[in-house]
Amino acid sequence: MRGVPEATEVARSAVADRLALIDDLDRRFSAGCLRRRRVRGMIQASSWLLIVQVLGGAKRMFDFTLALVILLLTSLWWVRLIFVLRLSGRILDRTPRVGRWGQVFDEYSFSALGKTGRLLTRLHLRRTPVLLNILKGDMSFVGPRAVSPGELSPAERLARRRYDVRCGLICLWWLRQRSNIGYSGEAASDADYVEDHSLWSDAGIALRAIPAVLYGGGASVAEDAVSILGIRMHNLTMSEAVDAFIQASSAETPSQVCFVNADCVNISFRDPAYHRLLAGSGLVLADGIGMKLAGKLLRSEIRQNVNGTDLFPRLCEALEASGAGLYLLGGRPGIPEGVQDWIAANYPRARVCGLRHGYFSDAEETGVIEEIRASGASILLVAMGAPRQEKWIADRLSRLGVPVAAGVGGLFDFYSGRIPRAPQWLREAGMEWIYRFCQEPGRMWKRYFVGNLVFLFRVLRDRQSKRAHAMDSISHSTVGNR
Ligand code: UDP
Repeated sequence: MRGVPEATEVARSAVADRLALIDDLDRRFSAGCLRRRRVRGMIQASSWLLIVQVLGGAKRMFDFTLALVILLLTSLWWVRLIFVLRLSGRILDRTPRVGRWGQVFDEYSFSALGKTGRLLTRLHLRRTPVLLNILKGDMSFVGPRAVSPGELSPAERLARRRYDVRCGLICLWWLRQRSNIGYSGEAASDADYVEDHSLWSDAGIALRAIPAVLYGGGASVAEDAVSILGIRMHNLTMSEAVDAFIQASSAETPSQVCFVNADCVNISFRDPAYHRLLAGSGLVLADGIGMKLAGKLLRSEIRQNVNGTDLFPRLCEALEASGAGLYLLGGRPGIPEGVQDWIAANYPRARVCGLRHGYFSDAEETGVIEEIRASGASILLVAMGAPRQEKWIADRLSRLGVPVAAGVGGLFDFYSGRIPRAPQWLREAGMEWIYRFCQEPGRMWKRYFVGNLVFLFRVLRDRQSKRAHAMDSISHSTVGNR
């Protein structure tokens, strides 16, 4: 019976422990103690607030430190420049801007007066004094575009939330425009930025600005039609291309829309029938960063990267309003159904009149054409890969009974979810092709690593011959004038 006194002993010590615990809790949560804790909490919170107020957060610290380091490293250059600019009369220009919380400040830039001012403008160095604004806390390295007072309407100001943060030297909207994917407008870019911004996302935007500066360009000087390696293209923006689709969807005469990327141009060199087809198409759109680069090198600026994949959601949105219906032809079995589900989930009022996978025999073809005709669709999208899809459409356009048809390549694979699309930051950096290569290296290596080089070589050769031609005509006209 030795177990019983031991058990009593254990129970007694448990009770003692519990009493000690209650005593402790009583002491710690007595009214005086609670008051002391509350005061201590308030002091802690306010000291944090003070630190945040003084330093303005990690982003502010980063901006301040980087601006200071750059200014110190370039201080000798600044001293010389100030000395030279003083001789021409004025050192700094001040432009009023609206900053965080709507406060107006002066943005500094070097004066454009004199030879030095003009040189700074040409070298894109006039805005360097913005570093002073960053030091002062008026601006950040990355943020929404600095706007002038009165530039935005009160409604826009409210909608954008752009004044929640400091405006920046580099902005997401500028980056998207330079990368040719600024489809949704500045307000949407501002909203995206304000919603997600962090030190990391700022660093990403700053890094992506490097390729954007190198290959990006102003679209304002672009012509309405450009010719890249003998292919004439309609130089439209994304929204103009969507409008063109909607217009064509109610036209009497059927027409074909072709998206042309660097790979398509290479194919057109080997395939004269495809080249002729592109020359005779109703609408030819420049697709991808390769075309943008080619346009820049050949001095035929491309307005926007109008690729089918980015156009598709915008087209669906326009279809909701216009009521025109789609027919989806192509992809593996089950893939067009996946696209239909995506449309139903995202644009429920857009009509899909019919669909069919792209693996049918020659014997089945008449039935497929009949099905498309009977569907009453206004727009036919064919995803069977270039140039097969373009040739398929061109040879049957008059029998298909649709006002407009377009080849869209791998679009169905993306929207059905079979192949994930590259994240936005990679597209902004013009690197979507790297992502695509990683997904299907076996199939894509030749297209990207050989094809892109061949394309670049052709563009450079064309540029060279155009230059030689221009020099020839100049020397002829000089001889003629003598
Ligand atoms: N495809 C098809 N029928 C065929 C061959 C291919 O429907 O006989 C589809 C294939 O499933 C894929 C698309 O065509 O969805 C081709 O995609 P790819 O990325 O090769 O096209 P690209 O964008 O390169 O023109």
